[in-house]
Amino acid sequence: MIKRETRKLVEGNLRFQSAVFEPQRESFEELLSGQAPRALYVGCSDSRVVAEMILDVVPGELFVVRNIGAIVPHAEDPSATSLGAALDYAINVLGVPDIVVCGHDLCGALGAIVEGTAPRGSHLERWLRKGSTEVEGFDLLDHTEEMTREQLVERFIATQLKTLTEYETVRLGLEAGRLGLHGAVYDPRSGRLRVAMPGSHTFIELKSPEQRSTLLPVVARTDAVSGAE
Ligand SMILES: [Zn+2]
Repeated sequence: MIKRETRKLVEGNLRFQSAVFEPQRESFEELLSGQAPRALYVGCSDSRVVAEMILDVVPGELFVVRNIGAIVPHAEDPSATSLGAALDYAINVLGVPDIVVCGHDLCGALGAIVEGTAPRGSHLERWLRKGSTEVEGFDLLDHTEEMTREQLVERFIATQLKTLTEYETVRLGLEAGRLGLHGAVYDPRSGRLRVAMPGSHTFIELKSPEQRSTLLPVVARTDAVSGAE
């Protein structure tokens, strides 16, 4: 017997076929020849933070990796294989020009990291420990009292960005000047995005198109293509 929630998903696909796919069949068929996404997005699995929706992109535009907490494990860690493979493929095969690491406010994973509330010995606890909290001698877990939750997630994402540079494919892409790294934090309370200022731990809210073109090229390029500007 199919559960009621499962049936809802099946009905959703049937609706998608008739209401979305068929009216846009040409666009979907264009994608059959291959993909050339604008960016690799690394974000949290949280069901409230849907990458394609919050960046308003269509199929083919974003190569997505989501895991609990938007964690970037250290490159030499055995758990890095999944993300490492995605980086290799996205950078070396698909040639993505940008990587966005996107966390979010109200992130339960970050809360569990800060409070140490994951069940002891669980996969969850082991995974959350992979999230680096220290960069350049500064461990954010030592400063949780001084920071707002918003600042904590920003700092956490900045730390994951730094960890990303341990991966050889990323390092080579950066050295060759053909790769951009971007940090972002999504606020599920407002739909707004805060992005990392290049080379600093400061995040600012995206408001104007001018900001978008300097701070988050991936968004700017998406706009240019869709004509939304
Ligand atoms: Zn989360």
